[in-house]
Amino acid sequence: MKDLNSVYSNMKKKYREIFQKTVNAIQSRIDALKPLNFDGDIFYSYEENSVGRQWQNAVVDMFENDISHEIYRKWQEIISYREKYNCKGCATCCNLACSEFSPKELEDKAKTGDNFAKQFTSIFIPYETKEDAEKIYPEYLKLLSENKDGEVYFYHCPKLTDCKRCSDYENRPDICRHFPDNPLDILPESCGFYEWKKEVEPVAMMLHAMVEILEYYKEKIK
Ligand code: SF4
Ligand code: SF4
Repeated sequence: MKDLNSVYSNMKKKYREIFQKTVNAIQSRIDALKPLNFDGDIFYSYEENSVGRQWQNAVVDMFENDISHEIYRKWQEIISYREKYNCKGCATCCNLACSEFSPKELEDKAKTGDNFAKQFTSIFIPYETKEDAEKIYPEYLKLLSENKDGEVYFYHCPKLTDCKRCSDYENRPDICRHFPDNPLDILPESCGFYEWKKEVEPVAMMLHAMVEILEYYKEKIK
């Protein structure tokens, strides 16, 4: 098994590079909308109906009507492409699920109608000790404890049989059917979707960077 920490630092390094390229690309699109001979900055505060304000409005409009749709469309392509890959039944995702929420917090969220929490609490139960979880995927736990702020809780599903089969396969919830639904998650190499993740990760990183950058610009322009 590869050292997950080096995989993770590579991901962070790659993300930083992609983030910078994405900032430059978005900045070029903002500059392309800038009125001719106008010398202001996109983050200045402009009067209502001024040239600067019209430029800001055009930029926000481009964010909402062009770039956001591009992000959505590309993300859907990534998810559809996942269909070319299959689960290999390694059972890691049934045996080790982690959450920033405690069992009590998840139950409370489920009671208030949170769909993910409802599904999660319908199958997963917490490991009694961190050491029990550690036996399943030690590298992953090491990585989490070194990189995650705050508590992380570990769960497993009692519906998994000793021969790594789901005893309630037909009725498994969507979170099982669609796992993994984010190529930016860390997956074990044993996962049938590992190659999918590797292939689409650069695009997923770019889309993630786009969302972060758009939020930043929208907040500052407001
Ligand atoms: S319900 Fe089945 S597929 Fe879902 S986590 Fe449990 S054992 Fe795995
Ligand atoms: S980790 Fe991947 S291959 Fe293993 S059971 Fe889950 S989805 Fe299937």
